[in-house]
Amino acid sequence: MNFADLGLSDELLRAVDDSGYTEPTPIQAETIPPILMMKDIVGIAQTGTGKTASFVLPMIDILSHGRSRALMPRSLILEPTRELAAQVAENFEKYGKYQKLSMALLIGGVSMGDQMKALEKGVDVLIATPGRLMDLFDRGKILLSGCDILVIDEADRMLDMGFIPDIETICQKLPANRQTLLFSATMPPPIKKLSDKFLSNPKQIEVARPATAATNIAQRLVETSARSKKTALKKLLRSEDISTAIIFSNRKTTVRDLQKSLQQDGFKAGQIHGDMSQPERMRELDLFKSGEINILVASDVAARGLDIKGVSHVFNYDAPWHPDDYIHRIGRTGRAGATGTAITLVTPADEEAIENIEKLTGQTIDRGGKSSGKPAPKADTPKEDDSKADAPKAQDEMPAKKSKSKSKRRSNTDSRDTQPAPAKPEKAESKATPQKTQSAEPKTAPATESDDDDWNGPLPGFLNVKLGG
Ligand code: ADP
Ligand code: MG
Repeated sequence: MNFADLGLSDELLRAVDDSGYTEPTPIQAETIPPILMMKDIVGIAQTGTGKTASFVLPMIDILSHGRSRALMPRSLILEPTRELAAQVAENFEKYGKYQKLSMALLIGGVSMGDQMKALEKGVDVLIATPGRLMDLFDRGKILLSGCDILVIDEADRMLDMGFIPDIETICQKLPANRQTLLFSATMPPPIKKLSDKFLSNPKQIEVARPATAATNIAQRLVETSARSKKTALKKLLRSEDISTAIIFSNRKTTVRDLQKSLQQDGFKAGQIHGDMSQPERMRELDLFKSGEINILVASDVAARGLDIKGVSHVFNYDAPWHPDDYIHRIGRTGRAGATGTAITLVTPADEEAIENIEKLTGQTIDRGGKSSGKPAPKADTPKEDDSKADAPKAQDEMPAKKSKSKSKRRSNTDSRDTQPAPAKPEKAESKATPQKTQSAEPKTAPATESDDDDWNGPLPGFLNVKLGG
């Protein structure tokens, strides 16, 4: 399957080609043609499978006909976090470079005045977090009656963050005969309900998830301290029978350090993290695939969307902040009947993350010993998914997010935009493609912001935006 088979325009195909993508991902191949035919779509596919381009590409072609009017955006994309919103905007920039589309980004942390100027001129695409959008709408600053396309992206995360009521309100302000596209990694009942209520006769496209490999994965925890982590890892790398390994870390700074240190010690180690360009990442991946290196130190976001499977070992140098990521990481091993080993280093600071992982999977992970598999005593796996309560589930059938939804709900609309928790791993990565943001650079995050805890991610070049406004 080629991008050229999907019915996209020549300009768009050229931009896709420039980006280096050769083949559409399965969700892209299946959703793009019906979206171009103006159908409503529910697209379900695991995180990292290219859902963004699934709607961005056809939208560019649809919107390149017609023009925008003041204060009336022609399409609206809802994203749960500002990082994701900025990433979507970057996608529009990247793929829309041969077509002229105007955009505005309405997210927390970006000065509202600048955004209002863009809106006043009229935009083809409005990318917003629900809180900020509601705020502007309530103040009469924006009309949604011209929005013929609505995208509800990352719907399950929206649910986590308590945005569903806002989304319902927003849906009611859009014209009834619009096209609505909903994308999600999972389809919990509240999302199904949302879709039933606000989509008309949608085509549901679900990309098959990879078979649960977790039963072939021997998981264990190795306790260590923050100071001796590196030594502990190297000891494991020498004592385990490793053919290929991926070592995951939560921070790209750690990825860099670790790779250097491993290389100095004679390990054949490469790295993949969010500060690297796509060609650089692909080069490292090729070295890994060809066997020139057999260890890849990776951050979650960089590793997503890359085809790295079937390694003998996965190491979690840090326990992931999101339990979902744990499933995603260890799923890189134990493929297709082969057995794999997943070892997580645990310092006292990681204990909470481990607890969350065990809650989510319903398993306690063995400490230092053999394999895993015992049901966790404190497991609270939701009932509706009890059929597989014993086995770790594929990342996208994870039900546990639901339990978090209430506690994460914030009452203040503005603060929700800056809600930091669910996006934390991405934050560390969100500087992935800063090349095109030069014009906005002097205005981006102050240098005092820490590398990992504050957002200083990509600000699309088309926006002349300030952070912290
Ligand atoms: P999702 O929304 O499904 O979690 P994204 O749209 O964020 O996934 O894409 C994940 C990664 O895959 C991104 O780094 C993106 O650049 C990359 N990607 C998207 N489409 C393709 C493709 N056709 N070929 C290769 N990589 C792709
Ligand atoms: Mg996405």
